[in-house]
Amino acid sequence: MGAPTARAVTRHPALRSLRCIRCGDHQPVDDHPRGCPSCLKYGTPANLACVYGEPDATDGVRLPYAGAPTLGEGGTPLLRFDTTGDLDLRLKWEGANPTGSHKDRFSALAVARALHAGYEVVAAASSGNAGVSLAAYCARAGLGCEIAVTDDTPGHVVGLMRDLGAEVVVFPEAEQRWRHLAGHLDSRTVLPVTNVAVPPVGSSPFGIEGYKMLAVEIRADLDGRLPDWVVVPASRGDLAWGVYLGFRELCGSGPVPHLCLVEPFPRVSAVLGGADPHGSFPGGTSVMPSLAGNSVALQALEAVRLSAGRAEVVDDAAATAGTRRVWRSGLPLEPSSAAAVVAVEQARAAGAMADGSLVVALATAHGMKGM
Ligand SMILES: [Zn+2]
Repeated sequence: MGAPTARAVTRHPALRSLRCIRCGDHQPVDDHPRGCPSCLKYGTPANLACVYGEPDATDGVRLPYAGAPTLGEGGTPLLRFDTTGDLDLRLKWEGANPTGSHKDRFSALAVARALHAGYEVVAAASSGNAGVSLAAYCARAGLGCEIAVTDDTPGHVVGLMRDLGAEVVVFPEAEQRWRHLAGHLDSRTVLPVTNVAVPPVGSSPFGIEGYKMLAVEIRADLDGRLPDWVVVPASRGDLAWGVYLGFRELCGSGPVPHLCLVEPFPRVSAVLGGADPHGSFPGGTSVMPSLAGNSVALQALEAVRLSAGRAEVVDDAAATAGTRRVWRSGLPLEPSSAAAVVAVEQARAAGAMADGSLVVALATAHGMKGM
């Protein structure tokens, strides 16, 4: 089995620059783990997004790199799901990805970027799914992998990362992982691909591009229809932002589906209610580590604002009860994913999703990692 080489990876010929999602400044196509340098200086960190030149007729949604090693990510099923009330609810079953979560879409492109730019090691902070996924994709690509976790990460999940060849470093606090990653910023051999900034900006814009394919697949599986709502479990909003970018590219200047972000306690919903977006938000979750964190990234807010969306809080008790019900229907989702189904039920009961709406909930991760 020959290791694929960096030479096999090609950059999209129309990829021109990266643009700040707050101030609009352009940056060269390079790695900017702290996001926009100008916004960072003013204490308002913001992620960057890929900018492509004019599409030609053969272009669909564009991705920044091609030719990197794959494990067969994407193409996951869209399943009908019965719910109470007059909603047409579908689940995008991301647990069907190679390592059991949507993160595989991110990892494929983050690793492609690392290969193309000549890095030897990819580094990331993870609560579980991202670490397992990156470990697998780095191993597949012949790259080293370093994952920073907190000491409450389940031992068997850390074991999966190590079995896949990753070096795992453990910290007591979540933000200590980010500071550790920031120590790699001047390295030309180690590439951090998840957030390193406090307040957070989010993860690699190249990796986030991988989530655009969710929009493509959802529209195709709905025979060209767009859902009214897409429900997205969120922490710093990488997934929600990537899904928004995908629908924006598909829809041009037309309307995109409303995004409903799901969170375990008020963060985005607090900011929508007037709280300081750079504040620290009290609250926690013991059953949804994938959605943990006390801060809000601008990309999460922009995904809501630009889609005329909303945020729904699903607490631990509701997520636990929802997980039990979803497993009994044959779908082993982790609680942070089952929370998307609960969010739909709550939003419908509150009148926020009209009867007859076509709703897609992103079932982000398989529950069999036991997270
Ligand atoms: Zn900026």
